[in-house]
Amino acid sequence: MSVERIGLVGLGNMGKPMARHLIANGFELQVFDLDRALARDFSAEIGATSAESLQELGRASDIVITMLPTGRVVRDVVTGENGLVAGLDSGDVVIDMSSSEPSGSRALARELAKIGIDFVDAPVSGGVPGAVDATLTIMVGAKDQALFDRVRPVLSALGKKIIPTGDVGTGHAMKALNNFIAGSNFAAASEALILGARFGLDRATMLDIINTSTGRNFASEKLLGQQVLTEKYSSGFTLGLLSKDVGIAAALSKELEAGLPTVAQTNAWWQAALEGANGADDHTTAYRYWSECAANGRKS
Ligand code: NAD
Repeated sequence: MSVERIGLVGLGNMGKPMARHLIANGFELQVFDLDRALARDFSAEIGATSAESLQELGRASDIVITMLPTGRVVRDVVTGENGLVAGLDSGDVVIDMSSSEPSGSRALARELAKIGIDFVDAPVSGGVPGAVDATLTIMVGAKDQALFDRVRPVLSALGKKIIPTGDVGTGHAMKALNNFIAGSNFAAASEALILGARFGLDRATMLDIINTSTGRNFASEKLLGQQVLTEKYSSGFTLGLLSKDVGIAAALSKELEAGLPTVAQTNAWWQAALEGANGADDHTTAYRYWSECAANGRKS
């Protein structure tokens, strides 16, 4: 069987290292980004082709990967005027590796199915280091095993754990739910430090104890000591992106009429931190906002 021709839309923090791995694994790659100069320079550097339009990229690809900020941007890129569908053929596949809304992905998959194009959601965990080392965990929603088997070699070039999650949309749901847990852990651990410090506890001592006790989590082990206490605030994951993911989980709870309180409250807490802040700031800066809230004795 001939090697699939791959298209990649979105050459940001994640897309660029992913493109390098696709080339290193022998795929023929065309790329596209809103930033045309970036796409041209980067493609020349890595030995890919820079498409002049989404339509052209679609025409030259069997499988197109999107790595874009939001599901709305993905929809625009795929079905918008002069979008990918203008160039894709029946039998081609779109893999959305962005962190998008699961129900939006299901709707997009249904629309594409009508013109014979398959859609797979394959969001990732592991951040920029995982993309650079090709050690991402990739959660894959696909309509059936045959489609999963078809995209697996491409995803294997990008990640270490390629895990099928079920039907289309389940990968995106899984991603949002994981990041809801990460967001709520960070918020809870932050509040514990803020409250403890007010009572007279030393925050570093608190983290020492939490990290060998039952309260430990990724935030207490990897973020609060390294990013917040040092005031570095440079984990590499932005406030805008984490808030988006927690928002997707909260919307899912609403959509499924689950009415779960923790996801709603976690979302409100992150949205409050985002308001008035810069979405490009590191997500760990939320600690500063919550500290100020506590200092002023106010709720979000
Ligand atoms: P980024 O903002 O660095 O890159 C996005 C890229 O998309 C930019 O190069 C931008 O020019 C391009 N773009 C935007 N709109 C476009 C359009 N209409 N057409 C073509 N190109 C367009 O974002 P990122 O950090 O690479 O994240 C991409 C996705 O991966 C997001 O959905 C994010 O939630 C997810 N994600 C990011 C991380 C992380 O640590 N950065 C980790 C896991 C998942």
